[in-house]
This record gives sequence, structure tokens and C-alpha cells, in this order.
Amino acid sequence: PEIITVQELANRMAERGADVIKQLMRLGVMATINQSIDADTAELVVQEFGHRFKRVSDSDVEIGLEGEVDHDDHLEPRAPVVTVMGHVDHGKTSLLDALRSTDVAAGEAGGITQHIGAYQVKLSTGQKITFLDTPGHEAFTAMRARGAKATDIVVLVVAADDGIMPQTIEAIRHARAANVPMVVAINKIDKPDANPNKVRQALLQHEVIVEELGGEVQAIEVSAKSRVGLDKLEEAILLQAEILELRANPDRDAAGVVIEAKLDRGRGPVATVLVQKGTLKIGDIFVAGGEWGKVRALIDDHGKQRPSAGPSEPVEVLGLTGAPAAGDEFQVVESEVRAREVTAFRQRRTKEQRGVTVARASLEQMFSKI
Ligand code: GDP
Ligand code: MG
Repeated sequence: PEIITVQELANRMAERGADVIKQLMRLGVMATINQSIDADTAELVVQEFGHRFKRVSDSDVEIGLEGEVDHDDHLEPRAPVVTVMGHVDHGKTSLLDALRSTDVAAGEAGGITQHIGAYQVKLSTGQKITFLDTPGHEAFTAMRARGAKATDIVVLVVAADDGIMPQTIEAIRHARAANVPMVVAINKIDKPDANPNKVRQALLQHEVIVEELGGEVQAIEVSAKSRVGLDKLEEAILLQAEILELRANPDRDAAGVVIEAKLDRGRGPVATVLVQKGTLKIGDIFVAGGEWGKVRALIDDHGKQRPSAGPSEPVEVLGLTGAPAAGDEFQVVESEVRAREVTAFRQRRTKEQRGVTVARASLEQMFSKI
């Protein structure tokens, strides 16, 4: 039985009607703004938007915004999340390694860094920066294609001896399309043929106007190899982060995005997740794409067990039923029953969508033969 109109549902969630219709379409339901939908469908939509849903009676539902929507006074500053992009061999991996070793905690006992797909650097000032450890445009685009926004700032690496190359331009396009601000790292300035000013000039042609040329994009000269300028680059990232006013509510059920996932022989399915809001704790029940789990252990980028992880922190999560995909959103839910419901629905939907694609493909084949 239909119990609520799309418009009313949108109003109660404080979302735009068009977005609710879009979400319904993703769930395979075609509805107009004035049409009514049933409680089951409404519940799924509400869940997808991250709000709380409660059936009050057969004819009424309650959509809980309280405690779910993050009011301004609950928001606290969070660390920026950074992706490094640039042309092959311009030094992305070298720079990520160099930056990783600027972590003050790396020097502490047992502070050996583990490769979990992301790491967080704590500076001597106490400020933190999270780096996604998978350089390259593919990971970035794959995430974006899934609707996940994991990156706050792109660090565009350009080798000072090589200048702007095809993948540099591609990276600029990606950052722009995702509406993510850039900080340029002009790398390899230790090389005798390095020409950082030429890089600054060349960036103009791609409408990247650096500060020295009257623009707003910071360009920092670095050498990943000689470890020059790393502190300046980090300062630039933090300055950019300040402009973005990155904040999140740590006191709510956690939600975020899967950075990578694998099936580990000894430990079972393991996912590295980036917490974007709330705090993920041991014992929490969560869904991630078509999988769910109960957090058995959280392991940070130093290989240390942790009781919880807050906004902008990457952690390995143990306790999943299967491996989700990179870019899948994860969300803590109130019960195992709920987790099973959501994943069963999502798996069914994925299967149906695949079915539709296959059917369409065979139709097209049929017609192409005519
Ligand atoms: P990626 O393909 O962008 O990840 O580039 P890599 O980090 O693998 O670096 C490519 C090559 O450039 C390697 O041989 C690095 O040792 C070298 N390299 C990286 N950064 C620097 C630097 O700052 N100075 C010099 N001289 N070589 C560098
Ligand atoms: Mg590399």
C-alpha cells in the first residue's frame, strides 16, 4: 500500500525532489513527484540518503533527521584527504613515499607503515593530512564513476625537467570535472635541467594559473628524491584545506567509502575504508556495497589495532562477509537484520541490472543482424 508521496518524502528528508526521483530510478522505480510509494520503497530511499526510517503505523512513517543530519555545532575540523596525480614517471610514488616518512608517528616504536591503500601523516604541529596511496587516474575515476567523493584536494605532480605531458592534462581535467582544487608539486628540482618557471608558464595554457602569475593555485617546488620542499607542500595542502573549511561530525554512526578490499588468506575479507563522518567502532554493524559486516578489528596504517576511527582516518576493517569494491560507500546500520536486508536488496538489484544489460546487449545484437 502506498503511504507517502515522493514530494513529501523529499520534504521530510530535506532533499530535493529531483534527487529522490533519481534515487528511485536507481532502485528501479519510476515515479513522478506527486506519486505515492510504499513503505518498503520509501525505507530504502531513506536509507540510501543516510537518514533514519521508522514505521509508526500501517499508514504512517517517521523519517528521522534528528541526530542524522549534522547540525553546524556538531561539526569539527577534519584532516584533508589528498590524491596525488600526474604523468607517469613524474614521481607520484616517490612523493607519496617521501611524504609518508614525514609522519612524526613513523619514528615511534612499532611505527612501521603498512600499505593499506591510504595513510595519514601527523605533522610536528599536530595537524594531519590523509593521503590516498593509490596514485593514478584510474582509481580516481573509478571512485567517481561510483559516485564516491573521497578526495578533497588533488596534488598534481609535474616533473620540472619534463613539463606538462598528456597525463598531466588528463589529471587537470579529472580534478576539474570532480570540482576538486589542485595544489601543484613541481618535482625533481634537484635535476640540473629542472625548469620550474617553464612549468608554471606551461600550466597557463591549461588555465591553471599559479600564484606567481597572479592566479590562486599554489605551486610548490619539491624533490621527492632529495626530500626538499616536503614541508612547504604540506603547508600548502593545509592552507588549501583551511579555505575548504573541511568539517565533519565525529559523534554519529560512521559512514565513508571503501578505498580497497581484498580476500586475505588468513584474515578473510579485508577492506580499507576512509571514514568520512562519524566514528567507526569495534562491534559496529555496517554495510559496504553489496556486503555487510560486524567490525571485529580495526587496524591503522602503522599496523596497530585501534578501538575506533574518526573522520578522515583510513583503517583496515576485519569482520566482513565478503569483499566490497573500491568506491563502495559504507555505512553503519542499527542491526544485523537491517544489514542483511540492505545487502540482499542491493545484490538483487545488481543482478537485475546485469540482467537488463545482458538483455539489452542481446537485443542490440539481434537488431544489428537484421
Ligand atoms: P610515478 O610513475 O609518477 O609514480 O614516478 P616514480 O615515483 O616511480 O618515479 C619515477 C622515476 O623518477 C624514478 O626513477 C624515481 O627515482 C625518479 N624520481 C622521482 N622523484 C624524483 C626527484 O625528486 N628527483 C629525481 N632526480 N628523481 C626522481
Ligand atoms: Mg608510480
